[in-house]
Formats: sequence, structure tokens, C-alpha cells
Amino acid sequence: MKKTFPLLSLVAAGLILGGCNASKSALNIDKNQLEQDIAYLASDDLKGRKSFSAEIDVAADYIEKRFETMGLKPLSGSNSFKQQFHLHIVKPLDVSVRINEVDISAEHVGVASQSAGFSWLNNDDVTITYIDATMDVRNTLRNINSQGGNHLVMVDNTHKDMFVRYQNYFNAGLSKLELKDQGALVMVLSNETDVTSLNVKVVNEVTSQRLTNVVGMLPGRQADADVVLFSAHYDHLGQSKDEQHAHNNDSEQDTIYNGANDNASGTGAMLNLAQHYAHLADNERTLMFAAFTAEEMGLIGSEHFAKTQNPDQIAAMINIEMIGKPSAFGSGNLWMTGADKSDLKTVLNQSLPEENHIQANPYPKLNLFYRSDNASLASLGVPAHSFSSTDMENNDHYHTVNDELANLDFDSIYKSVMLLAKASAPLARAELTPSRVAPLTDKSEGKIY
Ligand SMILES: [Zn+2]
Repeated sequence: MKKTFPLLSLVAAGLILGGCNASKSALNIDKNQLEQDIAYLASDDLKGRKSFSAEIDVAADYIEKRFETMGLKPLSGSNSFKQQFHLHIVKPLDVSVRINEVDISAEHVGVASQSAGFSWLNNDDVTITYIDATMDVRNTLRNINSQGGNHLVMVDNTHKDMFVRYQNYFNAGLSKLELKDQGALVMVLSNETDVTSLNVKVVNEVTSQRLTNVVGMLPGRQADADVVLFSAHYDHLGQSKDEQHAHNNDSEQDTIYNGANDNASGTGAMLNLAQHYAHLADNERTLMFAAFTAEEMGLIGSEHFAKTQNPDQIAAMINIEMIGKPSAFGSGNLWMTGADKSDLKTVLNQSLPEENHIQANPYPKLNLFYRSDNASLASLGVPAHSFSSTDMENNDHYHTVNDELANLDFDSIYKSVMLLAKASAPLARAELTPSRVAPLTDKSEGKIY
């Protein structure tokens, strides 16, 4: 890589004029622009880009403006770069449970259901399960959830801690792109092992909130060719809860989760790959560039996006996650999740010198393949993988207020983006096609929550 730098800086400085093929096909990532994009997205002004906040909309405006300036087009059938949709949140509002003629206090009840409410009486079709002290709460609930239908689950008092964890999770509300009433679960913390009478009334509060992906494309020369998707999530965690406290007592206290590495770095990379390909303007395949929202809430933006696309038309997805720090494989080098799921790594490495080869995820125990936005498309069969540089075993800033600009390595980021531009060129030119990933069955099929 080093050897190529003097030439690249000449290109960047405009000393080699564009126009001829030789210079046009050169790698041309604008380092200043890359730094500017990341610095803006990670700035305190955007207050941690939390889903549903006013500031994440400002971030979306910025990304839209960048797409517009580089000459990208909205997706076919759309007149906007913004892909807006709603997330539905179902929260228990009013719950009364009476078992064996005794009222159960709210503290000892947890409810999961995607409906507006329900009521059960003795002779209704409700399956009763008793989780005794020897049983595993997590496995039992998982099993009941996948069965669907109406379930009363009596949880022995010895499982109080686990019960409270599930109760908190259900009380926070179920977040769904599509509400499917597939039954209800009422969980009661009690040592009662013989339920003879039952009276349950639940009213849920159902609300909807708007979310926005920002998606642009560069139409390929081959109109009917498949698509290469570059993506990154642009949302993050917002601000810490003790903001008010900090404000009153210590104005120096940092409360903003800037998410500079997670994932202003990936978003900046995606934007500058878009700019690079827009400038080249020789892609045979159509290239799509997506900034996903609500990844931190559970891959929600990419899940919605996946529903709007034909997965068979997507030849590959390069999802960029946390490339803000030099990897264990050296500055600018990257690793890829799910290297055993398709041959995308081999395809990309064909364009890279050995010392810059993309490596398999060195942290296999973390199950990262299904923990980022690539999973939303991989589960539909797309060779969709995430690319990162972060050392996941020594990542002290992860999801803390210290994930900020000062802790990024811009030299490494720049080299990573150059590497991705170089590696993805044969995909854009439709010269190489990775193998498909085995699709998963719909994970929400039949489930209660
Ligand atoms: Zn992330």
C-alpha cells in the first residue's frame, strides 16, 4: 500500500488530471472529505444520533445532501433518498391477573403480546406451564414463544432474577415493523403449582414512530444486472440518562455517546465509497448505498430495507461497522464476519496484496455475523457481510461516551476505505460474483413476541 501513496496524493491534489482511463480508474478517496463526514456525524451537535431524536433527522439530512451533491439517484420508484417507515411499539398499559380467586400484584406479572389487548377466563384455551426450581426459564420461554398461542407461565420464586429481566424487557414494549397477533404470554412469579381458576385482562398501548433510512444508487451500465450494496448504520445511542444530574453538578461531564467508531466511521466510509464510484462512473452493476437507522435497536432499519428489495437481485452486500481503529492485522486492514458463509472474502482478496488481505472474523465466539445489519439480508440468501477493524476483545470505548473523535485513527480509516474501494472494484465491474448464503427461515414466524 505504501508504494501507491505518492501517486494517490498526486491524484488527490489534482496534479494528474482526470479524463483518461488510467487516472479515472485510480483509487480516489478524498481523505479530507472522509474526515469531515466522520467528524460531523460524531459531533456533539448530533447528540449521539439516537433513533427518533431530532438530531438523527439532522444526520439523515446531511447524508441526503451528500448523496445529492455526488449525483446519486433515489431508488427506482422513489423520488427521495429518504426511505421512511414506522416502528410499532406495544406496551402493557393496564394489566389485571387473578389466579385461584387471588389478585396478583403487578410486580409479579409480565405480559408479552402484539395485540391491542385481550382477556382470558377459566374455560378459554390457555396453556398453563409451571417452571419449577429445576427448570431453565430462558429455554422454556423461548420454546413457548415459538409455539405461539395463549400461555400462562407460573415461574417459581427461585427464578426471581430471571423473571425480572424478562418482565423489564416486556414492560419496555415490543418493537415491531409489522404487528402480528400470534398469541399472548402472561408470566406470573409464584410458587402456585395448581391453577384452578383464571381471570386475566390486558390493555396494551400501541404507538408508532417514524424512522428513516437514507438510500441512494448509481445505476449500472448493465440495466438488468444485479446490484452491489454498500451500507453502514448511522444511528447510535444518544445521551446517557444522568444528563440532568451531570448538568446540575458538573458541566464538564461528558454525557454524549458520540458513536465515532460505532458507526460514524462506517457511515463516512460508505459515503466516500459512493463518492469514489460516482466519480469513476464506470460501474456495470448498479451500486446502492444505504445508511441504516435503528441498528442499535435491533437491526430495524436494515430489516425494513430488506423487505423493500428483491434479495435475489443483490449480488453482494458490504456492510461497514466500526473501522475507526487499526485492526490486530495492522493499520487499515479489515476482518469480515461470516467468512464461512460465502466466498466473498476470497472474491475481494483477489484485488488485494497479501499483506492487506481481508481476514476472517478473529472473534468467532461473539457471533457477530447475526449482530449487524448484514444479517437482515444474509438471512434472505444475500452474500452480505460486515467489515470491521475493531479489536473486539480490547475495545474499551465500545458503547461508552468515550467512543469519540479523539479516539479514532484517521490514517487507518483512510487506508481501510481505500482497501474496500480496491477490493470491491471487480464486483462493481460485474467481473466477479460471490456465492450465496444459505437463507434462514423467517424468525418471527408464529412467535408471540
Ligand atoms: Zn455498530
